[in-house]
Amino acid sequence: MTRRLGVLGWPVAHSRSPAMHNAALAALGMNDWRYQRLPVPPALFTETTRALPGSGFHGANVTIPHKHAALALATHASETSREIGAANTLTFDADGTIHAENTDAPGLIAALAPILDSPANLRAVVLGAGGSARAAVWALREAGASEVSVWNRTPERARALADDLGVRFASTLEPADLLVNCTSVGLEGAPVERSASEAEALNQLGLTFDQVGEYPHVVDLVYRSRTPTPLLAAARAHGARTVDGLEVLVAQGALSFEIWTGVRPPREIMLAAARERPTAG
Ligand code: NAP
Repeated sequence: MTRRLGVLGWPVAHSRSPAMHNAALAALGMNDWRYQRLPVPPALFTETTRALPGSGFHGANVTIPHKHAALALATHASETSREIGAANTLTFDADGTIHAENTDAPGLIAALAPILDSPANLRAVVLGAGGSARAAVWALREAGASEVSVWNRTPERARALADDLGVRFASTLEPADLLVNCTSVGLEGAPVERSASEAEALNQLGLTFDQVGEYPHVVDLVYRSRTPTPLLAAARAHGARTVDGLEVLVAQGALSFEIWTGVRPPREIMLAAARERPTAG
């Protein structure tokens, strides 16, 4: 019988997770495993997820908007997922037990490895105050960053997040060793060239092009299949070392894969598959 994995989301049509997980399964000769999209609206999330083990599912990733609900329905939740308040990885036992984990946080730290030995003793700025910002702040704090500052378009949300996780609220942006964009700015639009729309995107992040040069390491959780995001384009123009959103996606996915299968997947193959342009339809 096929061992099934999937990604629960709403919408989830554009997820790169099936491509990267199926590429890893194929490369490892794990032909009895299959990873698929699971488009599930919020009202059906709990009922559908509880039924998955009965349909041959061993595990699932969870994405927008279900990460809180995933934590709430789990029988056992890891300390990481409880402290972050969200789960992106569920594992199902044959008896119906559901384990919740959060690999977004360790995934971010793993994705940093090619450009940074460790965030320990470094100053980091996180842009955003949503779910991914919370995981990033927690991860950087746990990894020993000397200071983590949070900036957000809606300052009250950044202040609340900073207070909750015991880090610094930033009303304006100051130079730091590491900048992590956890907003959705940059998802669409501007080409690589420094254009009016790129300047506008940076402005939405509270930054000018010159200010981006004050960060030698820059991570953008947003990903595009072809062009760099406006933030990464600006960071690279300044000579910064960068990590893009697909590298972060692969890092968290690889950790989920290992939890479900016990096998460490080939990350380069996952990244190549995630970078392939999705075919229409
Ligand atoms: P979320 O909870 O909805 O938070 C969205 C954040 O973006 C908020 O801080 C929001 O600010 C900010 N924002 C939205 N539009 C903005 C604008 N026009 N100008 C300035 N700020 C704006 O989303 P999330 O789950 O944290 O995800 C954020 C992004 O990260 C998404 O693009 C998602 O695709 C990406 N992501 C990538 C990965 C990966 O593995 N690469 C993983 C998770 C998420 P306000 O509070 O002011 O509304």
